[in-house]
Amino acid sequence: MAWQGIQGVDGIALQFARANRRGRLGGSFLFVGPNGVGKRTFAFALAKTLLCRRHFPKPGAGLADAGEPERTPQEELDYFQPCGRCECCAQFERVDESNASDGVVIPTHPDFHYVCKPADKSLFPLELLIGDKDSRSRAGLCYELNQTAFMGGRKIAIVDDADFLNLESANALLKTLEEPPPNSIIILIGTSATKQLPTIRSRCQIFRFAPLQRDELADVLLKIGKTSDPERAEAIAKIAGGSLEEAEKALDDKFAEFQQTVLTELSRGRMRAVEFAAKICEFVDAAGKEAILRRNRLRNVLKAALAFYRETLFALAGETRGSQGATRQAAERYARSGAVDADSVLACAERTVDALDQIDRNVNLPFIIEAWAYAVAENTR
Ligand SMILES: [Zn+2]
Repeated sequence: MAWQGIQGVDGIALQFARANRRGRLGGSFLFVGPNGVGKRTFAFALAKTLLCRRHFPKPGAGLADAGEPERTPQEELDYFQPCGRCECCAQFERVDESNASDGVVIPTHPDFHYVCKPADKSLFPLELLIGDKDSRSRAGLCYELNQTAFMGGRKIAIVDDADFLNLESANALLKTLEEPPPNSIIILIGTSATKQLPTIRSRCQIFRFAPLQRDELADVLLKIGKTSDPERAEAIAKIAGGSLEEAEKALDDKFAEFQQTVLTELSRGRMRAVEFAAKICEFVDAAGKEAILRRNRLRNVLKAALAFYRETLFALAGETRGSQGATRQAAERYARSGAVDADSVLACAERTVDALDQIDRNVNLPFIIEAWAYAVAENTR
């Protein structure tokens, strides 16, 4: 089974379903897990369900549990669905296309609020949470959560990209997280619990989203029409490590081609930094006008480099674990060339991690590329 068609979340959905039916649902949640495993999709489906009139919080619930027959997990999940007919469900279906952020389409339901880090910002803007200077504490997510629910049920807020909350933004959220207003729910979404400040972690109930199983991921790829060939779906799922995001990357034929260029350059004894940087810039620019597409491309290039260095370390240590495939072959060639040792490979890997971090902090892309290529070339002489 897959609750509301989302693979791999049945266990988590069941906990929410039971807690809600018993009137014991908490108010502050932190969803963590790798990118592309369905955290946001689940959060939106959960919001729609909890905002549906059928699942409105019942006064006095929590005491009334005793008389109810025990339900099987399947019965529980079957019941924990939005009815699809009430005015709340209809509201959630309505979306404001102009309000789509980074491709996320946001329902216009008046009791639903979604914020994320804008693509062109390196940190979470404080004003999204507590309003700008002129309307401090009279606007923003925390303010909205404190208002009476428009539809008479709950208010639900989702804070996506919680990895990017700085101390100031996190502090602005603490009071809301510690004591959410009655019948309100706040969900933070991040990649790992350790990336959240301890003050945030300790105030939230944490749910971990595991990478998808290979067959689950293959199913998703077929279902959302990324490919219609079951064998290809299976093959892609195998290399994607349970992440839909990784799978989409693997389906980008242009990237697969360029990856070979990256591996060839990196495994040269002497890297040609200037030419290599120019090639990467050209490839990244070809992704299109939107900054987010170019950033994603560079991210993929650098992740491919990081995988290459990891395999090289395995190869240098004579380890046979790690992947097979083109990356491993290039890494073995490189390790055998005698031009490298573990220290220089580690230095290159660290420099690559820094470059990935710079993408998130919105450093100018050509600058990241050139600085990275020079640093890596420097480490391989
Ligand atoms: Zn409904």
